[in-house]
Amino acid sequence: MNYQEILAAFRALPLLQQGQLILEITEKPKKPDYVSLRKTQLINKQVGCPYCKSPGYIRYGKDKGSARYKCKNCKRTFTEHTGTWLAGLHKKELVNEYIELMHQGKSLDKIKQELRINKKTAFDWRHKILASIEDSQQSKFTGIVESDETFFLQSDKGKRKGLDRTARKRGGHSSSRGISNDQVAVITTADRKGALDLTVATMGRISKLDIEKAIGNRIEKDAILCADSHVSYKGFAKDNQLELVVLRADLKQFVKKGVYHIQNVNSLHSRVKKWIDSVFWGVSTKYLQNYLNCGIGCKKHLKTQPILLRNL
Ligand SMILES: [Zn+2]
Repeated sequence: MNYQEILAAFRALPLLQQGQLILEITEKPKKPDYVSLRKTQLINKQVGCPYCKSPGYIRYGKDKGSARYKCKNCKRTFTEHTGTWLAGLHKKELVNEYIELMHQGKSLDKIKQELRINKKTAFDWRHKILASIEDSQQSKFTGIVESDETFFLQSDKGKRKGLDRTARKRGGHSSSRGISNDQVAVITTADRKGALDLTVATMGRISKLDIEKAIGNRIEKDAILCADSHVSYKGFAKDNQLELVVLRADLKQFVKKGVYHIQNVNSLHSRVKKWIDSVFWGVSTKYLQNYLNCGIGCKKHLKTQPILLRNL
């Protein structure tokens, strides 16, 4: 059908249908509505009572504009926001837009300006959102698995006064060479099929137990682990009876047999650091794990799978 034919066909339609068609074509794609997500889940009985998890609840009037429910099991009442980070939150109407801007990787300053909210609100919301993010990367590691650690300088955001960027460059190098205890170790593991894990492991050097805690229950027995010559990786591989390919950068061993390397996790590390420096004012150690789990804001830096928001 060419343009003229389509136009003729359109004109042949009754007026009402012409109008409907225009609406359908020009309607913007629906954006996810995080604020009413829970409401939909409650209506469809996809979630239980926030207190006792029982699915036996009924509608029970309204509470400040939100639907109220009563649990037949524990007899408590709740609203669609009870137990979520939205409970008691003002300006809920801006939440969807806020999350959208975070998705776009906008800085807090930009978000604050666009939504006309103050800096504290912008900051608080981000932490609330990040804290409600669940790590969705729970698939098992199979085949060639790369694992390596990287370090972030500890930043105790809460104790810092103001937002002075010059205070200390986050994710930069510690003044002392080598690994000190003011560095937060993050273990990154990725296979070639997209399974990914970033775990905030410890302060300072990692042990084989840290690796065990991070990925021990996710790595398949037939995986071939690629790591540097760190003794902790050797111990972890031995304990788990995993085949280990050691890559020694000091001997310029970057790739073995054309396929064994840790370059994917290393490039991920540099992207994560760039992202944390560019988007965030600084990383509080307390929240680092949430930032790493996050798909929000880091999409273009961190090709992770879609995020899963819990309690939203
Ligand atoms: Zn209940």
